[in-house]
Amino acid sequence: MNAAKVVEDLKVRFPNEPEYIQAVSQVLPTIEEEYNKHPEFEKYNLIERLCIPDRVIEFRVTWVDDKGNVQTNMGYRIQHNNAIGPYKGGIRYHKSVNLGILKFLAFEQTFKNSLTTLPMGGAKGGSDFSPRGKSEAEVMRFCQAFMNELYRHIGPDEDVPAGDIGVGGREVGYMFGQYKKLTHQFQGVLTGKGIQFGGSLIRPEATGYGTVYFLTSMLATRGIELAGKKVLISGAGNVAQYAAEKCLQLGAIPMTMSDSDGYIYDPDGIDRAKLDYIMELKNVERGRIKEYVEEYPTAKYYEGKRPWYEKADIALPCATQNEINGDEAAALVKNGVIAVAEGANMPSLPEAIKIFQDAKILYAPGKASNAGGVSVSGLEMSQNSERLSWTAKEVDDYLKRIMNDIHENCVKYGTQADGYINYVKGANVAGFMKVAKAMMAQGLV
Ligand code: GLU
Repeated sequence: MNAAKVVEDLKVRFPNEPEYIQAVSQVLPTIEEEYNKHPEFEKYNLIERLCIPDRVIEFRVTWVDDKGNVQTNMGYRIQHNNAIGPYKGGIRYHKSVNLGILKFLAFEQTFKNSLTTLPMGGAKGGSDFSPRGKSEAEVMRFCQAFMNELYRHIGPDEDVPAGDIGVGGREVGYMFGQYKKLTHQFQGVLTGKGIQFGGSLIRPEATGYGTVYFLTSMLATRGIELAGKKVLISGAGNVAQYAAEKCLQLGAIPMTMSDSDGYIYDPDGIDRAKLDYIMELKNVERGRIKEYVEEYPTAKYYEGKRPWYEKADIALPCATQNEINGDEAAALVKNGVIAVAEGANMPSLPEAIKIFQDAKILYAPGKASNAGGVSVSGLEMSQNSERLSWTAKEVDDYLKRIMNDIHENCVKYGTQADGYINYVKGANVAGFMKVAKAMMAQGLV
């Protein structure tokens, strides 16, 4: 394989999908060397078969808003690869959603799921519908309309969706209800379900906790403790909230949180009571982060800005893709940040990653450090299959073990001659090899 040429070809074939091309072009150069040690991969054109999704499902979603207007949105499911297990990945509801964004997410998910050590293929779905500002009834009608089409493409051994941006327990619940209504089957067909109907304990916490577990493993390679460190967190949703919670439990100090309108900086740190306020604000009142400064006036709100110019020890981008550019990465390094662990998917632009790696700071790509969410989804599938629920401790211990195994794999495949751990390379090679071997064994299907 010539990675640059494969990327060029894909660019020509998919010219309107920049995020997808960005994700592919981040992965291919890092696996090129390993791939080329296996001439059989090239003979069976494994690389194109791995980059191009198995299947893209695209449909119209029609629903009626509270005023009686008929609305349409686009719905998608990208079934990327099922070489090592059923298709698995979240559903995103956000106005920015399009085919290229979901293709990047499904591609990343395939590598991430492979890293988890659990048998899950890669997929992603979503809609350009935004739950923001919609009534409860509108959200329910939309979720039902979305499932009216999606249900025929998913199943517990076929494709198991979950949440992502804009899709939390509420939306998963409505989609699960509609799936059940349409099929007459009570099945573990979605993960992130409510605890009363097959959901797993620790699933809401899993992505954020897992990111911090991974961070502590990274810090340990340099003999550094997390306790006492100041942490910049972006986002204020599920991932950011539980990353902040785990930071607090381990003695670190979250300094910032954000949403798409701006960020708040609290010079005294965001303590447990303040985090409880944010959780209530975001999850119950569905408010905006700027309201924080009304409650805590010593904090400052910066409209239209991101938190990366603030001084701290650690950065946890937990909002969305492409939220750290080159200038912001340079500012983080200049301000003394020692570690960046991604809770979001692809939050760092390629030039930002280069800056982190050139500065030899600890940097973990999302497919490694945010894999805790889908890992506990995998554990939810296991619990559903055996019709049992595990205790919170059992799930959390398992999550810790998985994050540790992912870290070990990154070290194994990513340690350079100078001792620097290239987590991007480590995660990509480890994730790729498992899928590649499974694809080879299964023939041209
Ligand atoms: N959306 C999450 C992710 O990006 C979770 C997916 C899942 O649980 O299936 O990994």
